[in-house]
Amino acid sequence: MFNALVVEQTDTGPVCEFKRWNSSHLPNHPVLIKVAYSSLNYKDALAVTARGKILRRYPMIPGIDLAGTVVESSESEYQTGDTVILCGAGLGEDYCGGYAQFASVPAAPLVQLPEPMSIEEAMACGTAGFTAMLAVLALLDAGLKPDRGKVIVSGASGGLGGIAIAILHHLGFDVTAISGRPQNGDYLKQLGAAETLSRDEFLQPAKPLEAQRWAGAIDTVGGPLLAKLLSQVQYGGAVASCGLAGGHELNTTVMPFILRGIKLLGINSTYIEHEQRERAWQKIAETLDHAFWNRISQTIGFREIPTYAEKLLAGEIRGRIIVDVNSD
Ligand code: NDP
Repeated sequence: MFNALVVEQTDTGPVCEFKRWNSSHLPNHPVLIKVAYSSLNYKDALAVTARGKILRRYPMIPGIDLAGTVVESSESEYQTGDTVILCGAGLGEDYCGGYAQFASVPAAPLVQLPEPMSIEEAMACGTAGFTAMLAVLALLDAGLKPDRGKVIVSGASGGLGGIAIAILHHLGFDVTAISGRPQNGDYLKQLGAAETLSRDEFLQPAKPLEAQRWAGAIDTVGGPLLAKLLSQVQYGGAVASCGLAGGHELNTTVMPFILRGIKLLGINSTYIEHEQRERAWQKIAETLDHAFWNRISQTIGFREIPTYAEKLLAGEIRGRIIVDVNSD
């Protein structure tokens, strides 16, 4: 028997409860993992609080990230004792996820823990950091270079935004942060932001073309803020659209695309080929150090997940939450 946080469908809607499950409750995938840590992402918070349609079947263990040790494997590339990471790929949505002491998972999306990361640091990174790296790689592939000008990142106090700032700073970019929380200015400077601008400034209605301010942007907010960024990106620049913390709609014009040749790059971290996963994780491990992971993360106990999910959706969390599934 092991501890699991389970969401079940009831007559009055989905309900989330701590349960004692055994391995017969888990799906029959080729790799069984003893989970050490998971993390709390925006999607997880929606699943645990039963807001937003995240879970595709019930009963379901949420948790789109996990890191742990292989205890059984029928796939030759993974052996008992391997330390592995799984982020996205249906975990905690299509099949039972990281909010349990054991998980049965497919082999294809697994990645070996890259050195010199610790297993806890892998979950300080999690899907948020993995997506931040995918966004940076997409911008670099689109031709972004530090000498082209400033890069701007929205949702900066969150997991994805904060890790994106640190990666860009490490690569030599002049990074501007957008935040709705002015009290986080010093923290964002420590992560690598040269300046922090108020979110309110970017929620004003956008003209089709505004002054050209940014060579590139990583947006985690969507809605009117993304429309504003598009109108301010300079000739030949690019925007990586990753999230919708501020809304899923996008009302804009074609002007930045046809008169400035800018690119809007969609980033999806869920269904990514194994090679791309490994490339991104290797880059993350090479780029960010122990001090950074300490600064951006805090660890909570298993039974604290529902409380922290509410806090995350209320915009009260800064950085990343690691979940220790073996501690209350
Ligand atoms: P967090 O909750 O950690 O961070 C989101 C940040 O956005 C907050 O810290 C806050 O930053 C800002 N924010 C919160 N609410 C609002 C609001 N109403 N309007 C504008 N800004 C707001 O989430 P993550 O960093 O984990 O994820 C960010 C987004 O990216 C989410 O929408 C998530 O679903 C998406 N995502 C997408 C992935 C993909 O594959 N495309 C993968 C991972 C995440 P501040 O206070 O500094 O403004």
